[in-house]
Amino acid sequence: ESDEIIDRLNSVLKEKGYDDKVQVAKTGCFGFCGQGPIVKIYPEDVFYVKVSPDDAEAIVNEHIINGNRVEKLLYEEPRTNTKMDKHHDMPFYKKQYRIALRNCGIINPEVIEEYIAFRGYEALGNAIKTDREELLDIIKQSGLRGRGGGGFPTGVKWEMTKKENSDDKYIICNADEGDPGAFMDRSILEGDPHSIIEAMTIGGYITGASKGFVYIRAEYPLAISRLNHAITQAREYGFLGKNIFDSDFCFDIDIKIGAGAFVCGEETALIHSVEGKRGEPTRKPPFPSQSGYKEKPTSVNNVETFANVPPILLNGADWFNSIGTEKSKGTKVFALAGKVNNVGLVEVPMGTTLREIIYDIGGGIIDGKEFKAVQTGGPSGGVITEKDLDTPIDYESLKAIGSMMGSGGMIVMDEDNCMVNIAKFYLEFTQEESCGKCTPCRVGTKRMHEILENITDGKAENIDLENLYQLSNTIKDTALCGLGQTAPNPVLSTMDFFENEYKQHVEEKY
Ligand code: SF4
Repeated sequence: ESDEIIDRLNSVLKEKGYDDKVQVAKTGCFGFCGQGPIVKIYPEDVFYVKVSPDDAEAIVNEHIINGNRVEKLLYEEPRTNTKMDKHHDMPFYKKQYRIALRNCGIINPEVIEEYIAFRGYEALGNAIKTDREELLDIIKQSGLRGRGGGGFPTGVKWEMTKKENSDDKYIICNADEGDPGAFMDRSILEGDPHSIIEAMTIGGYITGASKGFVYIRAEYPLAISRLNHAITQAREYGFLGKNIFDSDFCFDIDIKIGAGAFVCGEETALIHSVEGKRGEPTRKPPFPSQSGYKEKPTSVNNVETFANVPPILLNGADWFNSIGTEKSKGTKVFALAGKVNNVGLVEVPMGTTLREIIYDIGGGIIDGKEFKAVQTGGPSGGVITEKDLDTPIDYESLKAIGSMMGSGGMIVMDEDNCMVNIAKFYLEFTQEESCGKCTPCRVGTKRMHEILENITDGKAENIDLENLYQLSNTIKDTALCGLGQTAPNPVLSTMDFFENEYKQHVEEKY
């Protein structure tokens, strides 16, 4: 539909003789999914929502030619019924702080000059003239941690790869985003692909790698084509390939398309898949930084992590360090979905509370219903209930309340959701995504799923939660990789908080 809007705007502008005065530019996603497609008019900075191709006429006639706002396309804040024309006044954006998403919805991702105009490739240009140790120190001091779920310090990971003695080293960007409902990485790659190319190249310079791969799922065709286009442009400009910025540093990037397997979020499985093997995890150590792609030192970082690197180098470690909580610095992007009024991509400083995200940014629960729970961390996380909504979000605090940060999926549930069905949904997902290599995960998740299915189908004669707990904990303790070790989490947390719902299913047989 967006392409159609662009075509219609262009043809109306031409018809009215305004095509040489007004340029229609395509951007990536602005994050406010529930209100899309969005059209922004510059320099007035007016934000139109739910635009359809038929609105092109009104935008050109009323706004461009006559200088008036198109009232019906203005966002109406549902709580106050106020019409708003500036995105930064809207509650959805007010508490957001965009670092990783800084250019999404702003620049045309297919035009490298627009990225450059927003300080793109400046961090890389400076980095090439800077001592590698000094750069590593900035990344370490910034406190940047992996945004893919693990939260491992990025600087430490790069240091481990850097200190390995090898002529061949690799940087891999994990763009295989498999968490149901999550689309942060896709959005960054579609909206700002150069930021990832720049950051990977910086990572290559710091660690001594000369080759990078973006491992991306085939289900993201737009992200793949924009990334391909951006790689070609970056090579033409001398930002990628041989003698970058006329230095002796060479680094290039290839795209590896994956089939979309959740287990490839585990870095050893991902590396095997990049090598053309089955995407199965192997035990660590050795860590990829010691023996990764083709048994050479390899650093694997996810898209959102990379997106933070150029701004850190441009603004300094202290700037990044000043945002967030004591142990979790910077911001985190969440894909806010489920029973909230404003679904979309939100980027907030670490330490923002769940209540602020769900009520202030998300606009509360649809139809004024009761909030029941929110799941963070996707299929590896757990549910969080009303009593913990004021917890400031960071890696440690989410763990402490029985969930986890994960890659940023955030699904809100209301009074109508059955929590046993929610647990079953996630378990069904992990069970299908299990690579089958180890028994606890392959067989254990299947048995757990059978138990849950019996409960939700009203076939369970009695409820043996103790058995379910035991099975869950055995899988957690004995599965080979993170997928299996965390698969029981949604079941464990729903049993903790909503045991009555499990019992109700069995007693009332529904
Ligand atoms: Fe494969 Fe599951 Fe074992 Fe991981 S835990 S290796 S996904 S079977």
